[in-house]
Amino acid sequence: MERFLALELASTIRHDGSGGIADDLLTLRGTALWIEKQSELLAGRTPGGGVLVDERFRSEVIGLRQAVRALFARAVSPAPPSPADARRLMPADEALAHINKVAARVPVILRMEWPPGEAPKARLMATETDPHVRLLAALARAAIDFLTGPQREQLHACTAPRCIRYFLKSHGRQEWCKPSCGNRARAARHYRRRQTAPGGGSGPS
Ligand SMILES: [Zn+2]
Repeated sequence: MERFLALELASTIRHDGSGGIADDLLTLRGTALWIEKQSELLAGRTPGGGVLVDERFRSEVIGLRQAVRALFARAVSPAPPSPADARRLMPADEALAHINKVAARVPVILRMEWPPGEAPKARLMATETDPHVRLLAALARAAIDFLTGPQREQLHACTAPRCIRYFLKSHGRQEWCKPSCGNRARAARHYRRRQTAPGGGSGPS
């Protein structure tokens, strides 16, 4: 499955495997590791890696994530958003303005690259040299690309108990982000049915 920066950013808030919520961007080290892991996705968007993560940069990435998650909530509506932050979402107009503002911090020029033997590629070149600003703007542009692209219609918040993930549906009837979520959801459904209908026999599985 293709990976998208905006989805990766939103997914830094995740289930910790034991009933709580983990945040990959909680610390400077965690944030640096996350940026490092995105190097392939970032490569087409901003030159050079290796930014030094400081507290200010970390909080700016988190600000962008808040805006992205607010717009993910809008994208999946009227279905419910991820329960992780459903009750403290940034207003959608504020989220839009924020992403646009961060993207605008780096003017970009469009270049064509056509190495022999390969397909030509359009590449956006940043005209700003501050690596922090460049990276933040690249993340904001990725959010714009994602939300204005065809992926938006496949975006879905997993409805399995305790799951907080946004994911891309690969087929129309897919309800859960992964098979283990489907198993948990079916088990919970089965349990509820047994609770409401005592004596109901369990059929062959
Ligand atoms: Zn799930």
